[in-house]
Order: sequence, then C-alpha cells, then structure tokens
Amino acid sequence: MNIINFINRFPDESSCIEFIKEQRIQQGIVCKKCAGIKHYWLENKLSFQCASCGFRTSIKSGTVMQSSNLPIRTWMMAITFITATKKGFSAAELQRQLGMKRYEPVFRMYHKLRVVMGQRDERYRLEDMAEYDEAFVGKATKAKVRSQLKRGRGSQKQSKVAVMAESTPLEDPESGKVDKSCKYFKMKKIKNLEAKTAQNLIKEYIDSDSVLQTDKSTTFSDLSDCIDVHVREISGTDKGKFNLKWVHIAISNLKKHLHTYHMISERMMQNYLDEFCYKLNRRYFGQKLFDRLIIASIYPYWYDCG
Ligand SMILES: [Zn+2]
Repeated sequence: MNIINFINRFPDESSCIEFIKEQRIQQGIVCKKCAGIKHYWLENKLSFQCASCGFRTSIKSGTVMQSSNLPIRTWMMAITFITATKKGFSAAELQRQLGMKRYEPVFRMYHKLRVVMGQRDERYRLEDMAEYDEAFVGKATKAKVRSQLKRGRGSQKQSKVAVMAESTPLEDPESGKVDKSCKYFKMKKIKNLEAKTAQNLIKEYIDSDSVLQTDKSTTFSDLSDCIDVHVREISGTDKGKFNLKWVHIAISNLKKHLHTYHMISERMMQNYLDEFCYKLNRRYFGQKLFDRLIIASIYPYWYDCG
C-alpha cells in the first residue's frame, strides 16, 4: 500500500471504521464476559454488542488502538508509512508525514506497533541450520553519563545484541560451490556476553535438532546442553559451507538502519530490533505487508492468524 492508494481507498475516518469493522467480523469477535461469538454492530456507539449478554466491545478494544484517542485513520496511515519503506521512519518524520501537532502520541503509537511486530515474530523458532553472533550497536547516552565513561571503552555507549539467522545451504551442481540462502532472523538485546546468556537464547529460539554455527569465542565453548550439532566458524577453503554470512550481513544492515534514529534508549532498543526483524523476515511480502500488520494490530495478543 502506498500513500496514493491509501488516500483513494480510505478517504475519511468512516471508511477506515468500516474496514476495521469488517476485518474484526472476519476474524471473529469473542465476548469478554460470556465468550459468546454472535454480535450486533451498534453504529452510534462504534461497538459490537454481544447477542447473549449485551456486553459491548468497542471497535478499538483488544486491538493495538485500545486506549488511544487517535483516529483509526491516523493508525492506518502510520501503518501505511511504516510498511511502505524498507528503511525505518523516525517518530519525528512520521509526525511530519501525518501532519500531527504533537510528537508524544506519534512516538507512543509507533512503539506500540513495534511491540505488535515483535509479538508476531516471537512465535517462530529457527531450525535446520542456524547462525548465532553478537554485535554492539549505538544507543543514546545521557551527556552526564557520557562524561563519566572511561576513555576508549566505547562498548559502554553501545547496546549488546544477539543476532540469529536460519540459513539453508545451496550447492551449485556445476561448480560445486556452496552458498546459503536465509529465511528468518532474530535479534535480542542482551545484558552481557556471558556463556549463560547465549545458552538461554539458543535454548529458547533455536530448535535443538539444528546445526548451529558460531565463531570461536569462549562464550560458545560448551553448547552441548542446547543443541545437537555445533560448528565453530571454519577458516580457509571450507569457509563457504560454515561461515556466519547471514548474521554478518544482518548486523551490518542493522547498524545502517539504526542511523535513521538520533536517540535510541537502552530501554526501547528491543522495539527497534523488532521492527527491523519483522520487515527483514517479510522482505518478499511487498504490498501485502500492510494487510499483515493491520491483522497483527487488530489481534495483537491472543489470535493466531499469520
Ligand atoms: Zn456476552
């Protein structure tokens, strides 16, 4: 969905209400009070009323828009902008594009959408062949804290991120050359580079039947509890088969991506990682990304609809 299509298809708030209403009916509404599924639409209340007990579910209730005073069209337009570009939008840029007076509600809306994106990807585990590496990425540091940091200890101004990729080896039958294609990525902010931290993440996000590749750092010296086959990066001629190609590409792209933002606090870092991974994992979706994020936003917490 680009912005011209959006404006044609959703010229006003009522067209957006109609669209979200239809989407909710398609997905099914469950009464919070009696679990009834039959509802009537109350146009003047913008709510669904349960046919059994009369309980009302507002159009925004249970969605990412719950407790937001922003018009539904603003949310949908934000989703259009966010999904229309591979690059990230800063909240200030989004505010300008939406023509909104205040920064704060735009900032909050954008972060709620990032949380939805993170929740979607949380459900997938990586399998087959997986790569794992750690990276340092820039974060915002208060001037006062910055002056107290020791010189040369750049790592204190950076967030630590674990990066995981699921890759499939591809062999060219003619040349015998091996390359890899990549499916899914995961990125998690980590507090430290200790072995235990890596072990916990690998247990949680990588299938234990996978072949896991890491570098030769001591962090990865014992992963026997987490994974059946562990390969540490091989140098020289075999490098094509067991290298950390995809995590390295992802880390380099992530660093470029984060340059879009002036200030990223440690607290919010995971949200930025989630948006980056969500789009990366759906890089071939094209225009469909809008519909996917709409569905994810309508049922952010408990529905399972892809
Ligand atoms: Zn009910």
